[in-house]
Amino acid sequence: MLEELAPGIYFVEGENRGRYPFSNSLLLKGRNLTALIDTGIGPERARELAKEEKVDLLLVSHGHEDHFCQNRLFEGAKVLCHREDAPAVRSVKRLEALYGCPNEEIGNGMMEFLIGMFDLGDSRVDVELEGGEVLDLGGLEVEVLHTPGHSSGHCCFWIPSERLLFLADIDLTSFGPWYGCVDSDIDQFLSSLKRVKELPVEVAVTSHKGVVRGREEIREKLEEYGKKIEEREKRLLAFLEEERTLKEIVDAALIYGRFPEPQVFYRLFERMMVEKHLRRMEERGEVVRTERGFRRA
Ligand SMILES: [Zn+2]
Ligand SMILES: [Zn+2]
Repeated sequence: MLEELAPGIYFVEGENRGRYPFSNSLLLKGRNLTALIDTGIGPERARELAKEEKVDLLLVSHGHEDHFCQNRLFEGAKVLCHREDAPAVRSVKRLEALYGCPNEEIGNGMMEFLIGMFDLGDSRVDVELEGGEVLDLGGLEVEVLHTPGHSSGHCCFWIPSERLLFLADIDLTSFGPWYGCVDSDIDQFLSSLKRVKELPVEVAVTSHKGVVRGREEIREKLEEYGKKIEEREKRLLAFLEEERTLKEIVDAALIYGRFPEPQVFYRLFERMMVEKHLRRMEERGEVVRTERGFRRA
């Protein structure tokens, strides 16, 4: 189950190769402390890992269900998470609120989905991070990088001695950046991408797309990934040659292409993401609001 990437650093692949609703983890064994980044590898794998390893620190990359759902299996571990995302880790209700469900019925459905699919419960956070902390595990140092955008408290973890970066949900998937929660922010996402691109990364570990090696390869992948944001706005602008209502824009699935099941949630994410684009484009004077909806300026 463990793949050693560097001395004391192990990639732990999530079920179904870490695709949502699972995610990949990283196990860091220093001389004094063992840390685990995220616990979304799947219930069986997490149980096995909890049995085999004494984890001292649980680093939660961010407060989304697929990254901290098995925290409770690591009872003795101290849980660390950025302070902006700590409330969602501590309370499923707070997480549900971040999805911005438009009515109680969808909100209840989301709660059921989070609890049923992930067996999610309220989790502990013992230490709230700010970003910039350096955790010394004994001969192995990990720096916390606050990289908001996907969520407001999203963090990457940088191991300078190995030039290894845990990118979390800057996940380099072909889908591209995801910013479908109330606290997600496109401009912050772009700044975070710029920041990680400046690091001399030789090994990048993502939450949903495995390990990428080689500085050039990583740079290219990050570049390609970030470009999706621009491409989405181009598609949106083309679609707004004609006046469209928000519903028509969401129905066109310009970001998702096709909504997976349960569609009601993916439509919600599409809407949240589209609205963030529309606001940006309106500010830039590319789109205007009309009585019915929106059109190209
Ligand atoms: Zn996430
Ligand atoms: Zn994720």
